[in-house]
Amino acid sequence: MKMIINGNLVNKDKKIKVKNPVNKSIIDTVPHAEREDAKKAIHAANDAKKAMKDMSSRKISGILYDIHHDLSKIQDEFAVIITKETGKPIRDSKFEMKRSLDTLLFAAEESKRIYGETIPLDAGIGGSKILGFTIKIPMGVLSAITPFNYPVNLAMHKIAPAIAAKNTVVIKPSHKSPLAALKLVELMTPYLPDGVLNSLTGDGKVIGDEMVTNNLVNKISFTGSVATGMSIARKAGFKKLTLELGGNDPLVVLDDANIDNAVSAAVRGSYVYAGQVCIAVKRIITQIGVVDEFTDKLLSETKKLKLGDPLNPKTDVGPLIDEEAALKVENRVKDALNEGAELLCGGKRNGAFYEPTVLDKVSPNMELVLKETFGPIAPIIRVDSVDEAFEIANNTPYGLQASVFTESIEKAKKAVKSIDAGTVLINKQSTFRTDNMPFGGFKMSGMGKEGVKYTVEDMTCSKLVIIG
Ligand code: NAP
Repeated sequence: MKMIINGNLVNKDKKIKVKNPVNKSIIDTVPHAEREDAKKAIHAANDAKKAMKDMSSRKISGILYDIHHDLSKIQDEFAVIITKETGKPIRDSKFEMKRSLDTLLFAAEESKRIYGETIPLDAGIGGSKILGFTIKIPMGVLSAITPFNYPVNLAMHKIAPAIAAKNTVVIKPSHKSPLAALKLVELMTPYLPDGVLNSLTGDGKVIGDEMVTNNLVNKISFTGSVATGMSIARKAGFKKLTLELGGNDPLVVLDDANIDNAVSAAVRGSYVYAGQVCIAVKRIITQIGVVDEFTDKLLSETKKLKLGDPLNPKTDVGPLIDEEAALKVENRVKDALNEGAELLCGGKRNGAFYEPTVLDKVSPNMELVLKETFGPIAPIIRVDSVDEAFEIANNTPYGLQASVFTESIEKAKKAVKSIDAGTVLINKQSTFRTDNMPFGGFKMSGMGKEGVKYTVEDMTCSKLVIIG
C-alpha cells in the first residue's frame, strides 16, 4: 500500500513490512516516510484549508454519505485486511467495519447541525440594542495518530468528524497495522479536494514528532498508550489536544448480581480481540458471597472458547498483535502466579497466541492488575464488601470505563458516585460503546471526549460576532 500526500499516491524506496501475527508472514509493505514527507503532508493539509472552509455543509454531508455508500459495498474486503494485519477474529473485524460505517453516518448527519448560539448581550452592562452570536469555524489542520487495535474505526473517529467540521487531516496509523487505514484514505481521497486528507506511515517517533510539533498543525487527536500520550502532551505546545489513552477497567460483581449476566459480560469483556482493547475488562472484582458460583461459571464458559485462525468465522480468540506482546502477558501471569494467584485455566503461549486464562485470588497489588495488561486474561480479585470493591476499582491511575453488576438500585447509585471513570456501566460490561456516545476517560486514561457529536464540537472554534 502507499501513502497519500496532496491527492497523490506516494511510495518510498525504504519500506516497512506488515506481518500477519498468526505466522509472521509478510502481508504487504508500506512506505517508510521521513520527516520531510510529514512536512509535505502538513503543508498540503494547510494549503487545502481554504477549499474546505469554502465548501458548503450540504456538499460535505453529501460527500460523507457517498463515501458511506461506497465503503459499505466493500466492507468485507476491509474486514479481511483488518484480520490479516491485526489477528482480530473475522467476526470482530466485520463488526469493526459496521461500527466504522456507523461512525461515518453519524458524521454525515452531524455535518448539517454545527450550530453557534445567540448571546443575550442586553443582559450585560452596555449591551442593550447590541446583537451577539457565535459561529463555529474549523480548527484547521488536524494531526491524527492511531493505535494498532482498531485500525479503521479509530481512524474514522478522527477523519469523519474532522471533515464534517471542515478541517483538513494528516493521519498516521500504527506501523503494526497500517493497511486498512491506508486503504480507507485511498477510498476517501477522490471525493475531496487535494490535500484535505493525507496519510503517512513510518516511525512514530520521527513522523509522529513532526505531526505534533509542526506549527502549521492546529489540533492533535491521539489514541494510544499513556507513555506516547504523555510524550505528545509535553511537546504539543499551544495546539489543542485530545488524548484517548489506556485503560484498566474493572468489572465489579456484587453479592446480589445476576451471575449469568455477569459471566457473559466477563467473557465478552475479557477476551474480545484477545483482551487488546482499551475498554476490555482487565480486573474482575467479585464479592465473596458469589465468587465460587461466578468463578465456576466463568471457567466453564472460558473453556468453550475456540482459539485459532482469526480468518475462521468460528474462532473466538486469535493471536496477540505479535509475539513480543504475548511474551509480556506470559511474564505478567507468571509473576502473578509466583506471588500467590491461582491458575484455573489457560496460561499457555504459542508464538503470538495466548490462551484465554482465568486466574483466581489475584491481589490488587500484582503488576498484572496494577498495569494495563493487554491480553486474554480474566483476573479475579476477591473482596468482602461493596466499599472494598469500589475502593479497589479506583486503585489505578486509569479511569476509562467501569462496570458494576448488581440488582440493587441503591448500590448502582453508590457505584456511579464512587467510581472515578469516564463511564460507569450498570449491568453491562465496559467494552460496550456506541459511536455517538461521549467516550473518554479520566485520570491517565486521557483528556477530551470522542463520539461524533463531541468530536465535531472539539474540532471547531467559536467565533463571536457582535453587531452594534
Ligand atoms: P502506541 O504504542 O502508543 O502507538 C500509538 C500510535 O502512536 C502509533 O501510530 C505510533 O506509531 C505512534 N507513536 C509512537 N511514538 C510516537 C511519538 N513519539 N510521537 C507521536 N506518535 C507516536 O499504542 P499502541 O500499542 O498502538 O496501542 C495500544 C494502546 O492504545 C493501549 O494502551 C490502549 O489502551 C490504547 N488505546 C486507547 C483507546 C482509547 O480510545 N482510549 C483506544 C484504543 C487503544 P508507530 O506504530 O509507528 O510507533
